[in-house]
Amino acid sequence: MRAALVERKLFGGTCVNTGCMPTKTLVASAYAAHLARRGSEYGVAIEPPIQIDMKRARARADMVSTNARTGVETWLRGMSGLTVFQGHAHFEGPDRVRVGESVLQAPRIFINVGGRASVPDMPGINAVNYLTNTSILQLDAVPEHLVVVGGSYIGLEFAQMYRRFGAQVTVIEKGPRLIAREDEDISEAIQQILTDEGIAVRTNATCIAFSPRPDGIEVRIDCTSGQPQAVGSHVLLAVGRRPNTDDLGLKKAGVATDARGYIIVDDGLVTSVPGIWALGECNGRGAFTHTAYNDFEIVAANLLEGANRRVSDRIPGYALYIDPPLGRVGLTEAEARKTGRPLLVSTRPMTRVGRAVERGEMKGFMKVVADAETQKILGAAILGVNGDEAIHGILDTMNTGSSYPELQWAVPIHPTVSELIPTVLGNLRPVS
Ligand SMILES: Cc1cc2nc3c(=O)[nH]c(=O)nc-3n(C[C@H](O)[C@H](O)[C@H](O)COP(=O)(O)OP(=O)(O)OC[C@H]3O[C@@H](n4cnc5c(N)ncnc54)[C@H](O)[C@@H]3O)c2cc1C
Repeated sequence: MRAALVERKLFGGTCVNTGCMPTKTLVASAYAAHLARRGSEYGVAIEPPIQIDMKRARARADMVSTNARTGVETWLRGMSGLTVFQGHAHFEGPDRVRVGESVLQAPRIFINVGGRASVPDMPGINAVNYLTNTSILQLDAVPEHLVVVGGSYIGLEFAQMYRRFGAQVTVIEKGPRLIAREDEDISEAIQQILTDEGIAVRTNATCIAFSPRPDGIEVRIDCTSGQPQAVGSHVLLAVGRRPNTDDLGLKKAGVATDARGYIIVDDGLVTSVPGIWALGECNGRGAFTHTAYNDFEIVAANLLEGANRRVSDRIPGYALYIDPPLGRVGLTEAEARKTGRPLLVSTRPMTRVGRAVERGEMKGFMKVVADAETQKILGAAILGVNGDEAIHGILDTMNTGSSYPELQWAVPIHPTVSELIPTVLGNLRPVS
């Protein structure tokens, strides 16, 4: 087939340029700083105070992103049958897309425009110089006091990273707890991990407002307790994402969106217009690189191999890359309870995981939720060292459709975090 690909900015998109890759590279630098501070616990002498070279840390993140971006771009530009257009694409009709002076006509159009940081109309927001996940990556120096507005996945990763780089950090969350999508015990444990490192966490911030001050930016919190405001040298807005669908001319194509601008798709990711598909973050069915990639796998299999793959068959899995990380798959316990099914739940603290003890990284816990009748695992969380990797044992089991007793017979490798999974399964107990 002949194909055209249109990119308006940086090849590789969010993950490569301003998302997963630069942030996980900086998380690695922050981890190195953390371990260096703890060196003496391991019998490694490092003279305190340790120095953070933010320019060097940033350069390392830039290099990782640049290598990935140029690799993708070179690959695309060299692909036979593919023409790459650089510019902003917008629809002129259901089978026509304009890019500058060029009009492209095709029987199949795939929208994969991603999203960007949402900047809600909060009081005073336009009067201050706030940072987003994109602009914060340009910082060459460690902020004196970083105020992170938004206590969810993106905000918490930056909060811990900058605390480890030496900044004073305050997280302001309007809800009653951090990462409210997770179970309460997970939120509590994560808050404890962050406060143990000296991060101030302010929840129930119902009246967030911003104003410039000579010494920085004031963020009004208006909690019922504590200081009614925090003054930061820098403020990071991490209050959600919005899809890049507002400037796409979707109306001209007849492509329907929901109230938040996400493109409405069916189970095979076809939009309201046959011949137009929407993949990745812009369809609201996943907010991760692996879900965007899986969207591609679904569409490719259905179109090219006559398969009938459906996005609703996907078992959601993801990680939160604080340290220790949270690996997640399937339902939370709260979601499982809402199904009304008879449940089994088991938890185990990381203090009882040999590998964690040996590494001196014992924060967090594991939790598995299963259906008591079908014996299928419904969901799991591993908040702990290597939790982002160890969760895959459960994720894979769920994807094979096996029941949990089958996984109990696996003989895992010692000493690993994963080896405790059969033990956790062995302790599954009914919950009321
Ligand atoms: C700080 C941060 C950390 C993250 N960490 C992780 C992580 O650890 N793991 C994970 O799985 N996910 C992570 N994510 C999420 C992940 O980056 C996104 O879910 C993923 O990149 C979405 O892929 P996509 O293909 O849907 O869109 P994108 O990667 O956003 O790509 C869309 C592309 O379309 C281009 N575009 C948009 N509109 C137009 C137009 N009109 N014309 C032409 N081109 C256009 C954009 O320039 C962009 O290059 C993170 C995100 C952020 C912000």
